[in-house]
This record gives sequence, structure tokens and C-alpha cells, in this order.
Amino acid sequence: MARLNDNYLKLAAGYLFPEISRRMNVFTAANPDADIIKLGIGDVVLPLSSSVRQAMHDAIDEMATPDGFRGYGPSEGYDFLREAIAENDFGSRGVRIDPSEIYASDGSKCDSANIQEIFADDSTLAVSDPVYPVYVDTNVMAGRTGAPDENGRYAGIEYLPCSEETNFMPALPDKPVDFVYLCSPNNPTGTVATKEELTKWVDWARANESIILFDAAYERFITEDHLPHSIYEIEGARECAIEFRSFSKTAGFTGIRCAYIVIPEELNGRDSGGDLVPVSKLWARRTNTKFNGISYPVQRGAEAIYSASGAKEVQANIDYYMANASLIKDGLSAAGFTTYGGVNAPYVWLKTPDGKDSWQFFDELLTKTNVVGTPGSGFGAYGEGYFRLSAFGVREKVEEAITRITKNFG
Ligand SMILES: *Cc1c(COP(=O)(O)O)cnc(C)c1O
Repeated sequence: MARLNDNYLKLAAGYLFPEISRRMNVFTAANPDADIIKLGIGDVVLPLSSSVRQAMHDAIDEMATPDGFRGYGPSEGYDFLREAIAENDFGSRGVRIDPSEIYASDGSKCDSANIQEIFADDSTLAVSDPVYPVYVDTNVMAGRTGAPDENGRYAGIEYLPCSEETNFMPALPDKPVDFVYLCSPNNPTGTVATKEELTKWVDWARANESIILFDAAYERFITEDHLPHSIYEIEGARECAIEFRSFSKTAGFTGIRCAYIVIPEELNGRDSGGDLVPVSKLWARRTNTKFNGISYPVQRGAEAIYSASGAKEVQANIDYYMANASLIKDGLSAAGFTTYGGVNAPYVWLKTPDGKDSWQFFDELLTKTNVVGTPGSGFGAYGEGYFRLSAFGVREKVEEAITRITKNFG
């Protein structure tokens, strides 16, 4: 019989969202009239902007003509999209990224999952704790770890604790690692790295020949001007960092699918003989072998967020979510909770009251207010004692949730 990849069997059960659903179902079975408000899952709710919709319609119409029809496109994405990204997401902030350094894809989940393929099997890595689980699980699947311990931590991964004491920023690893994942603005904690903090990371990576995998899926939600949107705003980052960006949260593309990865020309790794090799060479090869690109209408839709009308519409949606985040943060603070995030990210990270653990608080919140959130412990051992509320909701529901929380906890 075919032998399977044992590494998959090391994965701790992906119990977080199934367990949330299970507890919700038990509750609604017992309380069929309860009006549940879900502020748990990080998915957008506002409809597509009209500029995006129009651009996608036009692209379909174009494809229905003999001259406008297109078959396979370039695996890395069409030049029109890569040029628009380079100019608008980077050039406008004074960051030099060439369109050829941009690879369009169908999601940052896949990109941040696939990137580990280009590193040697025995590479060492570090992640923050709490963490977006994709970074960890894909390295488990690739065989870079042992089995998980009772906290769900895998032997072979260096976990960097993020707590109140560290402002939810990870400290530098105490021994060199080959690559490290950073996510800023952070899911789940909602906190953002400053220029000073990122500079420390870039200096460390260059000194140790490490590569930083920088997930900036939430950069559009930054509201404070002094904070960096890209790691390439930091001197030297072109030599040590890969950046991930996504249209998912930025423009409501979670169901449309478009993202991209940036690999600067100067970024090198070493082969087994110790010679320098450009990382882009491997990623371009991988992309051309395993991927045939994202669809033309989707790329035209993505391009449309950079038009004058598209940019305005996309910003209005982000402002809407960030107004939700303020309502949640202010409401919780008024009710006596200690909160983090919610200012430059669509997530509020709250400290559970009275030393309750994350799941106890989940049950209490559900029972008393019928509001569903996400237990922090689902993101790692250091998430225990915390809880995530998402600002991706309809305004009236968010207001109602906060009213109930204030009434029951305030
Ligand atoms: C939502 C999210 C993404 C984006 O994923 P897509 O596959 O592009 O939808 C990336 N990173 C983090 C941390 C996220 O929360």
C-alpha cells in the first residue's frame, strides 16, 4: 500500500475554528432564539467596490471578443498589475521595487505556505507566539520539526514569546536561525512594528545571513503616519527580506483571490557549496513550474484599486472597519477590559478578566452576550489569557455586541 507523508500526522488537530463552531452549535441547540453575533473569523463583509466590479466586467467582455481573448498569462502576473503595484504600493512611499520583483498569486496564505519550499530541508526557523498557524503547519508538513508538546509547540521551531512585557513584539532569537516569520500589523494581536523595531530585525538578519518573511497583509489598516507599511522602508531590507501582500483584507478579495510576494534582486541565500544564489531565481522557477497565474479578470479587478475611484472606495471600506475597531476598543475599555491593537489593525486583542483562560472567557461571553470571538490560546501558548475580536462586521452588529458586553461586564 502507498506510504503517506508521516509529517502530516505530526500536526496537532486544527481544533480552533471547528471547536468554536462546535461550542456555538451546542449553545444554539439549547438557546434556539439567541441572536448570535460573530466577531470571530477574520473575513471581510462589505461588498466589492464598484470600480473593481466594473473592471472585472470589462475584462470578461474583452475576453469574449476575438481580439481581446487571452489564454494562459504570465505565471508571475501581467505587467499592468505588477507595474501598478510597484508604483502605488511602494513608489508612492519612496520605496524602490521593480515590477520584475513582484509575483502575483492567488493568496498570501498560499505564498506564506509555499515559500518554505525554497529553503534547505534542514533549515532552522523562528516564529512569534501567538502566531498565524500557516507558518508553523507548513514547516511541520515539510519535515522541519518533531512532534508537538502539550502546549502544541513543535520541537525544532524557535518560538518567540509576544506578551504585554514585550509590547507583543517578538524579541530577537537568541541563536541564529535561517528564516523567521514576522507579521505586522499583527494577526492576532493587532499590534504593529515601528521603524526602530524593524530596523533591529533587519540589522540582525543581515548580521546572521537570515531571511525575514514579512507578512504585511494588513498594512492598509495602519492609521498612524509614522509606522512603516513595508519592510523595505528599512535600510538594508532588500538584502534580507521577502514581503507578502494581499488584496483580501485590503479590497474585500477573500473570495476573489489575489495577492503578491516581493523578492528583491539583492536577496541571496547559499547553496550547499556555500555559493551565493539569488532567491528570486528559485522562486521564479517554482512559480513557472507549479503555477499558471491568476485569471485576467481578477488581475484587472486588482489593478482597479489603484485608480482614483477605486482607491477612494477601498479606503472608505477600510475606514468603516477601523471605525468598528474603535467602537470595539473604546467599548471594551469603558467596560473595564484591558485591550491592545485595534488602532492600526482590524483586530482588538483583549486580556481576559479575572485570570480566566481563553476558552472559559469564550464560553462566558457566548452565554452572557451571545457574542462569538476567538480564544487567544488557539494561536499559541502565549495567547492563553487573551481573546481576539475582529472588526470585520456590519456596523449595527458591532454596536449591538458592544452594548451587550458593556451591560454584562461594565
Ligand atoms: C488574511 C491573512 C492573509 C491573507 O490571506 P489570503 O490567502 O491572501 O486571503 C495573510 N496573512 C495573514 C496573517 C492573514 O490574517
